[in-house]
Amino acid sequence: MRAVVIHAAKDLRLEERPPEAPGPGEVEVAIEAGGICGSDLHYYHHGGFGTVRLREPMILGHEVAGRIVALGAGVDALAAGERVAVSPSRPCGACRYCLEGLPNQCLDMRFYGSAMPFPHIQGAFRERLVARAGQCHRVADGIPIGEAALAEPFAVTLHAVARAGSLLDKRVLVTGCGPIGALAVIAARAHGAREIVATDVSDAALAFAARIGADRTINVAASPETLAAYGAGKGSFDVQLEASGNAAAIRSGLDVLRPRGVLVQLGLGGDIAVPQTLIVAKELDIRGTFRFHSEFALAVDLINRRRVDLAPLLTGTFPLDDAVAAFETAGDRSRSMKVQIAF
Ligand code: ZN
Repeated sequence: MRAVVIHAAKDLRLEERPPEAPGPGEVEVAIEAGGICGSDLHYYHHGGFGTVRLREPMILGHEVAGRIVALGAGVDALAAGERVAVSPSRPCGACRYCLEGLPNQCLDMRFYGSAMPFPHIQGAFRERLVARAGQCHRVADGIPIGEAALAEPFAVTLHAVARAGSLLDKRVLVTGCGPIGALAVIAARAHGAREIVATDVSDAALAFAARIGADRTINVAASPETLAAYGAGKGSFDVQLEASGNAAAIRSGLDVLRPRGVLVQLGLGGDIAVPQTLIVAKELDIRGTFRFHSEFALAVDLINRRRVDLAPLLTGTFPLDDAVAAFETAGDRSRSMKVQIAF
């Protein structure tokens, strides 16, 4: 079994790993598609992010889908040959947060491809993956496997809109139009947003946001005054979905949120200063959003029933042998939205 293993920044290798057999309640999945995420790119380009650093070789990847090839004992809800999207969320089910119904805050989370704990949690970019049956969500006939593998980043944005509260008839600002920002536009639309304005500094990213459903796009590098105009009368937007991690995007968003507006922070840009006066005077909420759990099943269901069209996000697919080229291409915003590896 081959796997995509990161050793250090810019040191990505295809390595043989021993296959595993599915135990009770587990299934073996032949992975067919794996999407490269921003966190995978951080490991590839920088060996980690923030205080999270690679300390041992780690299999990357957590956006995967494939076909079941073997069942462990006691698995009767799935069958060999079925295609599934695999949720990388593996909470312990026993800690205080799991018992409180906050599995994404689990104290012993074993999310694939994460160097947060040590030993690191090995990822899912491998030809065969043994997973719990409950992580595997059936993919409907006719859905390309690459679209099924988009369930993971889509679930991230479904959790983000859940953190925002009801979006029905709301005006939503999405800042940052990479894959997560683009999926946030789709998630906000699916949740009944009245108007969605998307911002970025790249015209290519904005053209993409318009294509997948943003009502208006603004290049805030070229015309910051266009966004600033929304600040009239204490602001216009009910919700900001912040997917850039950029300090200027956060600041300008706080300027154009209306009183009691909600900023949901998806992007990870490190420590920044925020204007306390604005937050106090407009009674703004700033909320974090981290991964997902139950939203993965919703993501797969929306894809299966074609309630959302995520296909335009897929801008490149590379064979496993070209994994390094896939990572290089995925990191180039001028050319790529979501890049996947075909296993
Ligand atoms: Zn737990």
